[in-house]
Amino acid sequence: MAQVKDYTEIVGNSVIEELFAVGERASSLTIQHVNSTAVGGGVAEILTRLVPMMNELGVKTKWDVIKGGERFFSITKKMHNALHGVAENFTDDDWAHFLEVDRDNARSMNFDSSVVFIHDPQPIGLVEERAHLNNKWVWRCHIDFSEPRENVWLFLKDFIEQFDGAIFSAPAFSRPLSTRQFLISPSIDPLSDKNRDLDDAYIDSIFERFQIDRKRPVITQISRFDYLKDPVGVVKAYKLVKRYIDCQLVLAGGGATDDPEGEKVLNEVREAAEGDKDIFVLLLPPSSDLEINALQRGSTVVLQKSLKEGFGLTVAEALWKSRPVIASAVGGIPLQIKHKYNGILTHSIEGTAYWIKQLINEPNFARELGKNGREHIRQNFLITRHLRDYLLLSLSLFQDKDIVYL
Ligand code: UDP
Repeated sequence: MAQVKDYTEIVGNSVIEELFAVGERASSLTIQHVNSTAVGGGVAEILTRLVPMMNELGVKTKWDVIKGGERFFSITKKMHNALHGVAENFTDDDWAHFLEVDRDNARSMNFDSSVVFIHDPQPIGLVEERAHLNNKWVWRCHIDFSEPRENVWLFLKDFIEQFDGAIFSAPAFSRPLSTRQFLISPSIDPLSDKNRDLDDAYIDSIFERFQIDRKRPVITQISRFDYLKDPVGVVKAYKLVKRYIDCQLVLAGGGATDDPEGEKVLNEVREAAEGDKDIFVLLLPPSSDLEINALQRGSTVVLQKSLKEGFGLTVAEALWKSRPVIASAVGGIPLQIKHKYNGILTHSIEGTAYWIKQLINEPNFARELGKNGREHIRQNFLITRHLRDYLLLSLSLFQDKDIVYL
């Protein structure tokens, strides 16, 4: 696994020196992250790297994952959808069950760190523990919070306001709250298996393994099979392009342990793709980082046609690989793409299809977008920046107070 110093050649000496200096300042802190899945989705992807790097900088950091049964995760999935503007009904029993599971988890956990970061709504009820502790608690929201449904918003607001602060991924997600709000964008790790350089022979071997023809254009979307990623919309856009260009479509993704809807969506995608041997619906196991890396690198165009998106790590991953990316102008995606400068922002299936054709037909323009995309990610969305933001935020919580040792 890469060490912090290994990032010097990508981000430069001064960034690394600053990180070690901030790490030293923060070394009297201990940090704890809590989320609801160890694999699958962007949060797990980030914590897998952030936690060891914080430790390497001398800030003792641990990561806990809450447990829940099928019912709990179907309620939290409904919450997730409702936060993204989908109408969902919740019964009093749903709220009670949600809280009961969080309280059960709280009883078996130890919140003995100076700063506790609770990620997303699933473990939000743990904040009740804060009332009899003297440390700092921060809610880290990774989701698109621009249009939450009233029912779920009112339920969560009571909990959010018990935290010392809330972090959002994009300015548009900030809301009227009595607690402090911070803006921290997510990041990717350029040295992980998901993002590190790969040689062309390896990329070829992955395409051969999946029997995808690299000689013809390949359009790819990597995402969990989730309605909000609009995989069926992707198939429709591809079909519009296919009338004019002999291309292939790759829809690759796995599930997350906290996402019970995946199978249903996957079936709908398979149905939409049926009969077309140039559509590759790949169900990937969790340890597929190198495969995803190769699929992204070997694609002619990468799509992220989400209907809602907290940030969209897959966009950053593809931009980092200098790929031309076409993505919906939702959530955190416009932070990553400046239209026609380092990628393309779209609003519809037809618009997506139009731009796929354009980019396949104009490889020089596509290359220019990719080149600018990589630099934009290098400057703004790499893990070194993210690490520094977390440490500075943690320190700022104790600005007017001594650090509490538990
Ligand atoms: N991902 C993965 N395997 C999959 C699908 C996605 O490893 O089958 C990764 C993807 O490369 C990205 C993350 O999971 O790093 C998804 O993060 P994103 O912010 O795009 O979406 P989320 O799933 O968090 O909504």
